[in-house]
Amino acid sequence: MHAATHRPHVVIAGGGVAAIELALALHDLAGTRVQMTLVAPERDFELRPLRTAEPFSADHVRRHSLRDLARRVGAELVADTVVAVDPGRHAVRLAETGTRSYDALVLAVGARHRTAFSRAITFTGDRTTVAYNGLLADLEEHWTRSVAFVVPPGTTWPLPLYELALMTAREVRSMGIDDVALQVISPEPTPLSLFGVPASEAVAGLLASAGIAFRGDTHAQAGHDGRLELLPGGDRLDAERVVALPTIEGPQISGVPGDERGFIPVDDHGRVRGVEDVYAAGDGTTFPVKQGGLACQMADAIAEVLAAAAGADVTPQPFRPVLRGHLLTGRGSQYLEQPLPDAGSETTSDLHLWSAPRKVDGRYLSPWLEELEGASAAAAPEGAHIDVEVALPSDYEIGHEAMRLDPYSPTRGR
Ligand SMILES: Cc1cc2nc3c(=O)[nH]c(=O)nc-3n(C[C@H](O)[C@H](O)[C@H](O)COP(=O)(O)OP(=O)(O)OC[C@H]3O[C@@H](n4cnc5c(N)ncnc54)[C@H](O)[C@@H]3O)c2cc1C
Repeated sequence: MHAATHRPHVVIAGGGVAAIELALALHDLAGTRVQMTLVAPERDFELRPLRTAEPFSADHVRRHSLRDLARRVGAELVADTVVAVDPGRHAVRLAETGTRSYDALVLAVGARHRTAFSRAITFTGDRTTVAYNGLLADLEEHWTRSVAFVVPPGTTWPLPLYELALMTAREVRSMGIDDVALQVISPEPTPLSLFGVPASEAVAGLLASAGIAFRGDTHAQAGHDGRLELLPGGDRLDAERVVALPTIEGPQISGVPGDERGFIPVDDHGRVRGVEDVYAAGDGTTFPVKQGGLACQMADAIAEVLAAAAGADVTPQPFRPVLRGHLLTGRGSQYLEQPLPDAGSETTSDLHLWSAPRKVDGRYLSPWLEELEGASAAAAPEGAHIDVEVALPSDYEIGHEAMRLDPYSPTRGR
């Protein structure tokens, strides 16, 4: 970025988790030393991770105006999308409103979701709630007796699938139905193994107590008739319905480097490799664990670099990924040991595996959500949650492939 003789113009592309964290962090660290422009196609920020709660009426995704956020951080908001970057001219081309110049550009544009299996309900966090409601109705009507929750191989974030499986088990049980077979199938060796042994064991306990079978180290692929084959072994998946997460690909913006899947390569300060004054944070980067909290940590590292370059008294710290999870178990350790409540009992409060501001852990994003969502952000009762904090392996490099969920190179962090 140019020397701080003028207010550097920082353009942030995106209106999601990483973009919001970055805008709030940069405003906090640099104040009026920078001018900010936020380019995002949507009017509102939505915490899509909370969508897993919607089919169960356990919570809903709230919208927060990007215009209000822009006003708060003194940014200009442009309703548009970045289609190309010209790093030589320090300019971005937008789809509708022409070209904008920048001193620093941050690409926080997320990833593209791809359907992994055509015959599955793919839960993207976008509009799949309706399809999921249909599945719950089929379970209630006894049209469906077995459901498999499948984590696809490749780059993804498996936690939502566990939430869906657990909440479906509770929903089914609360309907008085006890003959539905539920299973989770994943390339992970153990449930949520990325979080380390104690948390993985706790999740395994939750699955067992909910009557959900787990089959790990298993790679699902669609056969010629669309039905799923399970590898190694090659047996056919025995389930009437399949729920899957999407696989994820990089954003592929013209003028921006990308790996073979389109993910943007960055160094540990979020600088895009080989391109001056362009940064990237979040799911769109080559960092292989796609999680909102990690997206926020990347954004914080970039905000520090930009604030320091603008003359703020900040020493930029490199991105040192720490995976944080706050798993609400509803009933603390007892929940792990005891069977599900009897049919018809009040279980709704137990469905809150995560509370909104804690679902994505951001230094700035979480307090912002807490402020906006206030009462709905009620803290978990004492003893009813597990906090997990895992520093990712020190030999772990950005762009390293070891954490991709591939059965033939098992997940790290066990
Ligand atoms: C169902 C589900 C549940 C999840 N649960 C959790 C959870 O519990 N905890 C957790 O930490 N993470 C969770 N995640 C992962 C988390 O949602 C992502 O890691 C996080 O949203 C990534 O943030 P991001 O800013 O990189 O991308 P996004 O949040 O996807 O934001 C991308 C933004 O960029 C905009 N955009 C796209 N292209 C352009 C362009 N060309 N120009 C300008 N703007 C553009 C988009 O409109 C969007 O506003 C979940 C994901 C899913 C799908």
